Formats: sequence, structure tokens, C-alpha cells
Amino acid sequence: MATTTRFAPSPTGYLHIGGLRTALFSYLWARKNSGKFLLRIEDTDLSRNSDNAMKAILEAFDWTGLDYDGEAIYQSQRFDLYKKYIDKLLKEGKAYKCYMSKEELDSLRKEQEAKKERPRYDGRYRDFTGTPPQGIEPVIRIKAPLDGRIKFVDGIKGDMDISANEVDDFIIARSSGVPTYNFVVAIDDALMGLTEVIRGDDHLSNTPKQIVVYNALSFDIPKFYHIPLINNPQGKKLSKRDGAMDVMEYKKEGYLPEALINFLVRLGWSHGDKEIFSMDELLEYFNPNNINKSASAYNPQKLDWLNIEYIKATSDDKMQELLKEFDCDISEQINKSLLLTVSKEKAKTLIDVASNINSLIIRPKEYNQKDMKKLINNESISILDEYIELIINKQPSTPDNYESITKPFLESKELKMPHLFKPLRVALLGVSQSPSVYDVMTILGTKEIDSRYKIFKKRAN
Ligand code: GLU
Repeated sequence: MATTTRFAPSPTGYLHIGGLRTALFSYLWARKNSGKFLLRIEDTDLSRNSDNAMKAILEAFDWTGLDYDGEAIYQSQRFDLYKKYIDKLLKEGKAYKCYMSKEELDSLRKEQEAKKERPRYDGRYRDFTGTPPQGIEPVIRIKAPLDGRIKFVDGIKGDMDISANEVDDFIIARSSGVPTYNFVVAIDDALMGLTEVIRGDDHLSNTPKQIVVYNALSFDIPKFYHIPLINNPQGKKLSKRDGAMDVMEYKKEGYLPEALINFLVRLGWSHGDKEIFSMDELLEYFNPNNINKSASAYNPQKLDWLNIEYIKATSDDKMQELLKEFDCDISEQINKSLLLTVSKEKAKTLIDVASNINSLIIRPKEYNQKDMKKLINNESISILDEYIELIINKQPSTPDNYESITKPFLESKELKMPHLFKPLRVALLGVSQSPSVYDVMTILGTKEIDSRYKIFKKRAN
């Protein structure tokens, strides 16, 4: 059977990186095996769903390129189907109506707690044939096995084997008729033909209940992989401050989706000591059987490092497109390639690249006062006048051109580089610090240098 995996988010909040990592593992495994990757929206809790959360999930999938097969499946549209299976189980005597009131349940729980027993339903309506009590809408409970063991092999945790009496006759439909979580998950996973279920290990305790449903309906049981959580660098639960934020926040902060994907795949999975993986390499090497047994630690420096690598490797055309979202338009620039190379240096994020670029291509609105006082005087202005005139005459167009004009100029005046370059930077950029002056001038071009110098002179006089 073709490998079929899924991601099954509950749209009660945004998609955070833990969820995205689960989706990624499922996606890689399906794609690697030329199988199917499905998306199921678990929106049965109608009171807790939000359209925004749903939109954010789909948007995050779109941004990271995790394309799923077919249409997304919404559990809220499948209530009739779930009811069919509830009726089937009732008819076959594998589920039953339970009329226990809330008060009765509470007192049972208290009794069990007093005896230091684990709270569980006591099966009192399991074989009930009498007249149901008045005024109580029953819930539907499934008949869980009374003895024996529930076993399954988890691809990460290994052999799982629990006593069947740890699972009570749990509710599969509430008195309102709404089916419950573990029931619908099992029905859907079976009907969607999943061969593998990869999910967070916070769901491990649900699996025995879901297996009870599979068995009651004679469905094939998929292989389970329960993946350990992502902790913060201190080994504690990842909080929003550590990075457990909406995946789309990473986009806003200027991370590339490829970097985030590469970062996430390495949280809990490795292939030797390789750190950078293209999608093709991931599809070649990824295997959920190699996911670590222990929790992984979120390391923000590693994400930055990867982002730097991916930013460097991004083509100029693609970069030009990406930067538009960060208020940075380089379409009119004459030396885009040099501009991008210079601006990518020391940039951790697209925000940094955009700000580096804008600090060069946008004319200075003001001139740093300290720099003006320290560096701009009659002498430096007269050197600048002469130098700019020389540049306009010679029309250099590469950093080497600029160098071959500038060096003899400095020698003839017996000047050291900072004597020219510092005031020059102030005149052209408004500050005395910048990337290489030859690069900056090549990026601006002589026409812009001339205009900027004229504006500067008006302000300096
Ligand atoms: N809807 C569940 C969640 O968002 C996932 C259920 C599952 O993977 O089985 O945590």
C-alpha cells in the first residue's frame, strides 16, 4: 500500500514550529516514498475554532512549500459519517448508551480517588437492559476489552504494551451527539488510508484508545511514530519567548522558509554530522525510524546560522522579489549583484539585508552631527570637491576602476585613506561607517554620487 501520512492540526491557535516539524516529518516520509501527504483540520470543537487560526495554518503550509495532496479534510463536515460508525457499533453491541448523570460520575470519581484508584468509568451500563432513567440524554461509550493487553510497535519508542484494563469504556459520542476526539481521529486515520501516523508524543496516551476503535471496526492499524517534544535551550518546555510562536512570525522576522525547514528537520533527526540539507537530500535521507528518542533543544543561534547560509545562496532575482516584502525595492539599481553581495554580508535575516540595502540606496535624510563636526571642515571639503570632480571626469564603474583612480589621487595629496573616505562616506551616506567605499561608489554610480554630493554641499555650507 502506498505510504500515506497526514498532518492533523486543531485550528484553535496559530501553527507553531513544533506543529510544523511534525508536518514536515510526515511530508518528507510520504514524498520520499512517492506516497500521499494529507491535511486534516480537526475542527470538531466548534467553540474553540477560529477562522484566523485555520488561515494561518494554510498560509504557513503555503510559505514553507509543504504541499498536501487533494483537498484539506475538515472534521466538522464529517459528522454524518461519524454518526454512521457510532450507529454501526451500537447495532453490533460494541458500543452502548450510558445514562450516568454528572453527579453520579463525580461521586464515582471521588470514591476512586479516596481508594487511591485511577479514576475510570466502572462499566455500569455496559450490559444494561433495564428501563433507562428519565430526563437523561445518554452518552455513547465503546466497549473496551476487559482483559488482555493492548500492544503496538511505535517507530520511535519501540514496543508498547499496556494492560487493556487501563482503558475504560470511554465516551465516543457526547449526549449532544457530537463524537469525541479519539473516536473521530481513529475513524479518519483509517478511512483516509493512513499507513503511518507521525505525531507529537503528547498523543501517545491516546493511541491505546484509538486502537480500541480500530479493533471494534476491524480497521487496519497504521504504524505510529510519536515524536519527542522540542525543548528550549535550558531543557524546559518551549515557550513563546523561546520561539514557540506562529510560523508566520519567522517570515515577518526575515527568515527563509528553507532555513526554517532545515532547522526543524535537525531538531530530533540527523544524518551523520551533516547540517545543511537541500529538499532533495532530505527526500533521499529522511527516515522516521531515525528520529531521536529524546527531546531536542531549540537553538536560536543555529537558526540564524542556517538563515545566513540560505541568504547567501539565494539568487539575485529571488532576493529582489523577497526584499519587496521588507520595503526594499532594488529594481532600479544599476549594480544589483554587488549591492546584494555587500548587503548580505553580516545579515542574519532579510530584515538585515533590506536595512543594509536601504542604508545605501536611499539618500541620507540627515547627516550624523558628530561625524559632521569631527570630519567636515574647509580642508576636507576642498579635498572632496577635487575628488568628486575627478570621479565625474573619469566615470569609473567597478570597484577596481575606483581603486585605480583613488590611489594615485591619495598619493599625490599625501593623504591616508581615512582622510578621504570618512568625509566621503558622510557626504554620500550621512555616516562615516559603511562597507568598502569602492563598493559603495560602484553601487551608487557617478550620477548619483554627483547628486548626493551637491545636496551635501548645500547642507554643509
Ligand atoms: N489535532 C491534534 C493536535 O493538533 C493532532 C492529532 C493527531 O495527530 O493525532 O495536536
